[in-house]
Amino acid sequence: MTLAVETKSLTKIYPKGKVHALKALDLKVPQGCAFGLLGPNGAGKSTLVKTLLSIISPTSGHGWLLGQDISNKEARRNVGYLPEGHRFPNYLTGRGVCRYFGRLSGLEGAELEKEIDEKLELVGMKEWGDTKIVRYSKGMNQRVGLAQAMLGKPKLVILDEPTDGVDPVGRHQIREVILNLRKAGTTVLMNSHLLLEVEQICDQIAIMHHGKVLQQGSTDDIRNAVSVDKGSVVVAFECGEISDELDTKLDKLGEREKGVQGFDITLPDRDGIDKVVDLLRKNKVSIYAIKPRTANLEQAFIDVISAQEDQQVGGSR
Ligand code: ATP
Repeated sequence: MTLAVETKSLTKIYPKGKVHALKALDLKVPQGCAFGLLGPNGAGKSTLVKTLLSIISPTSGHGWLLGQDISNKEARRNVGYLPEGHRFPNYLTGRGVCRYFGRLSGLEGAELEKEIDEKLELVGMKEWGDTKIVRYSKGMNQRVGLAQAMLGKPKLVILDEPTDGVDPVGRHQIREVILNLRKAGTTVLMNSHLLLEVEQICDQIAIMHHGKVLQQGSTDDIRNAVSVDKGSVVVAFECGEISDELDTKLDKLGEREKGVQGFDITLPDRDGIDKVVDLLRKNKVSIYAIKPRTANLEQAFIDVISAQEDQQVGGSR
């Protein structure tokens, strides 16, 4: 497996307050994937990104970007970066920002202008390209940030909270841009607290907590581990009115919660679905839809973090 990012025992202790932000962290990001870095506030995600990009130096351990040691500035030649909470100079226009960062990537003249047009168009900012940053909303700033990160056709793009402050339409647009990057073979490494978004974009994820990677793997495997562990199935039944008598009978089949239309039921196994259908039809209740409620990343994330916290509490007793 060719790796776009690798770390071995990467450690960062901030001297001020002696905060252990990264604790011998091992990470492997395969080339060509969209990789989501998840973790609660303070898990060390931004510290990891900044260490990989040599914005800060590690206390110990090793890291590689596209096969090159992070201490070598050549390692960053093919990397695009959108920092968290970036501030571009207010007197520049969006196009001016792109021009500045494009030149840093080695682009010049007509080639640079053509790429800027392309990238501003992709993020829906072409018409605003000649407007000064001071007039941009947070979401517009973020879109220009994404455009500059893609200049020079980097092989790896690192995005720290790419949709922070962006409205739903803009988020959809940014999601499409990231998916297209991946389709074109670019590796994307992104941090986000929006788990639904990570689920829609990333095929690989790592869950970080207290400076360590607790779990790493394909999004499907991590998400599915939740329902497999519990051995039960959760099904949403959309149906007509239910009598009190039927209500009592259904309670015997599984644990229920009120759904938007009908109910969600947790059944001990798949056979339970037939039993619910039989019971409803016998009682002349119309069934509009039956949908399996698959485990979501949010539940998997909470399970992984809670298990770690419980372990720590247990260990400190
Ligand atoms: P968030 O999701 O809130 O952005 P994060 O996962 O990106 O959090 P980091 O910003 O990397 O986490 O912070 C990891 C730990 O390091 C936190 O405890 C934070 O307080 C601490 N930290 C971050 N930057 C510094 C610094 N410059 N000096 C001292 N401690 C720092």
